[in-house]
Amino acid sequence: MSSAHYDLVVIGAGPGGYVASIRAAQLGLKVACIEKEKALGGTCLRVGCIPSKALLESSERYEEVKKHYAVHGIDVLGVELKLDKMLARKDKIVKTLTSGIGYLFKKNKITRYEGHGTLLGDGRVQVNREGADSEEITADKILIATGSVPANLPNIDWDREYIGGSTTALSFNEVPKHLVVIGAGVIGLELGSVWARLGAQVTVLEYMDIAMPGMDKELSAEAVKIFKRQGLQFEFGVKVTGARVERSGDAVSCVVEREGGEPINCDRVLVSVGRRPNTEALGLETVGIETDRRGCIQVDEHFRTAAANVYAIGDVIPGPMLAHKAEEEGVACVEGMVTGYGHVNYDAIPSVVYTHPEIASVGKSEEELSAAGVPFKKGSFPFKANGRAMALEAKDGFVKILAHAETDRVLGAHIIGARAGDLIAEVAVAVEFGASSEDIGRSSHAHPTLAEIVKEAALSVEGRAINF
Ligand code: FAD
Ligand code: NAD
Repeated sequence: MSSAHYDLVVIGAGPGGYVASIRAAQLGLKVACIEKEKALGGTCLRVGCIPSKALLESSERYEEVKKHYAVHGIDVLGVELKLDKMLARKDKIVKTLTSGIGYLFKKNKITRYEGHGTLLGDGRVQVNREGADSEEITADKILIATGSVPANLPNIDWDREYIGGSTTALSFNEVPKHLVVIGAGVIGLELGSVWARLGAQVTVLEYMDIAMPGMDKELSAEAVKIFKRQGLQFEFGVKVTGARVERSGDAVSCVVEREGGEPINCDRVLVSVGRRPNTEALGLETVGIETDRRGCIQVDEHFRTAAANVYAIGDVIPGPMLAHKAEEEGVACVEGMVTGYGHVNYDAIPSVVYTHPEIASVGKSEEELSAAGVPFKKGSFPFKANGRAMALEAKDGFVKILAHAETDRVLGAHIIGARAGDLIAEVAVAVEFGASSEDIGRSSHAHPTLAEIVKEAALSVEGRAINF
C-alpha cells in the first residue's frame, strides 16, 4: 500500500507548528501535522502560557479582594479560596482552546496524525502511536516544530508531585506552606507569584546576582524591589546542588541542598532553570542534521536546516522561547516556501512577564545598546504621575523608551507597570514601522489611559514630558 503524500508535513502542533500548518493550508498546500499528545496546541496551550495566565488571573483577583479592595472603600468579609475550582477553571480554558485547534485543522483541511513523528530520510516520516501500528507518510517538505522541554539540574529527583517543573506547579493540589523556586526567571516569578498570592511562603533561589538576567537591568532591579514588597523572598548567587523528597510515615517534606549554605526544608520545589530544545527520537541523524551545544537545530534566514527540504522553527531553534516568536517563524517559514519571501524582525518581538505588575520589553536594552556602541537617548515616565494609574491603584513602575541619539528611531522600550503587556504592543508596532520617539509623542493617546504613559515617555526622550 502506498503511503499518504503531502506537500508539507509539520511535526509538532504547538504555536509554531499549528500556525504554520494553517498558514500553509491557506496558501494552498496539502498539509499534515503530527502531534504526539492527544491535545493540540503544544506547551503553550496545554502546560504553558494559557494555564499559567489563567492561574495568574485567578490568584491576582483573590489577592485583590483580600488586600486591595479596602482602599476603594469596599470591605469584603469571608473571602475563601476554593483551589479545586480555580484549577478546574484553568483546565476548562485549556480544554476549550486545545479543542479549538482541532476545529481549525478541520476547517483548513489539515490532516492530523496522533503519534510521535520520526524522520526516516528522503521525505519520509514515521508516525508511532502507542497501541497502534506505525504509519509512514511522505512529503515534499518537512517542518520541525517540536518545541522544548524543561531543563533539570543534577541531583534533583523530580517526583512530579512535590518536586517538579512548571507542569507540576500548575497543578499543586494544595497551597504549599513553603515553596522553594529554583531559578528567578520568567516561570519562577510567574508561578512563584501565583502561589505566594494564594498564601505560600515563597523562596526564590537564583544562581546569578539578579532576577531575569537577560532583561534590561533597570527593569529587573525594580521588579525585584516590588516582588520583595509583595512577600517573595530572594536569595541570589546560590548554587543549588540537589533536592530530594523525604518521607517519614505519612509526612512528606523536601530538602534543597546548596553550595556553602544550610539546606532548606520546604514542602514543594519548583525547578525553573530554563528549557531545552526537544529533538528526542526525531531521527535527525537520518537526514544529517546536528544540534548545537545547547541542543538547538541551526537554520538559515529562511528556516532551512542543513538537510534539503527540512525546515525548523520555534523553541527548537535559537532565539527567545516565546509562543509568538514561534508563530511568526511558522508564518514566515511557510510563506517563504510558497512565495520565496518570509521574514521575522527579531527586534520587534515583545516579551512579557505576567506578574503584577507586568514587565514588558521590545527591542534592545540599555546594556545591549551600550555594548554595541550605539548612541541612544532615554526617556522615561512613571505610572504614579498618570491619572488612570491612580484610579487603578497601579502607581508602581515606569515606561522607558530608548531612541537613537542621531535619528531618534525607537530602538527599544522597557515597561514595568500595570498592563505593561498590552502597552508594549504600541512600541512594537513603532519599532516595526521604524518610527521615531517623536512619532509616538505626536500621536494622540486617549485620556485618561495608561497608554498616555508611553506617550509621555516618548516625549521625555527630548525632555518634553508634560505631566512630570
Ligand atoms: P511547543 O509549544 O513546545 O510545541 C511542540 C509540540 O511538538 C508539542 O506539542 C510536542 O508534544 C510536540 N512534539 C515534540 N516532539 C514530537 C514528535 N517527535 N512527534 C510529534 N509531536 C512532537 N511563551 C509566551 O510567549 N508567553 C507566555 O506567557 C508563556 N508562558 C509560558 C509558561 C510556561 C509555564 C511555559 C512552560 C512556557 C511558556 N511560554 C510562554 C513559552 C511557550 O510555551 C513556548 O515558547 C512555545 O510553546 C513554543 O512553541 P513551539 O511550537 O516551538 O513548541
Ligand atoms: P529562564 O531562562 O527565564 O530563567 C531561568 C533562571 O534560572 C535564570 O534566571 C537562570 O539564571 C536561573 N538558573 C539557571 N541555573 C540555575 C541554577 N543551577 N540554580 C539557580 N538558578 C539557576 O527559564 P524559565 O523561567 O525556566 O522559562 C523557560 C522559558 O520559557 C523561558 O525562555 C521563557 O522565554 C519561556 N517562558 C515565557 C513566559 C512568558 O513569556 N511570559 C512565561 C514562562 C516561560
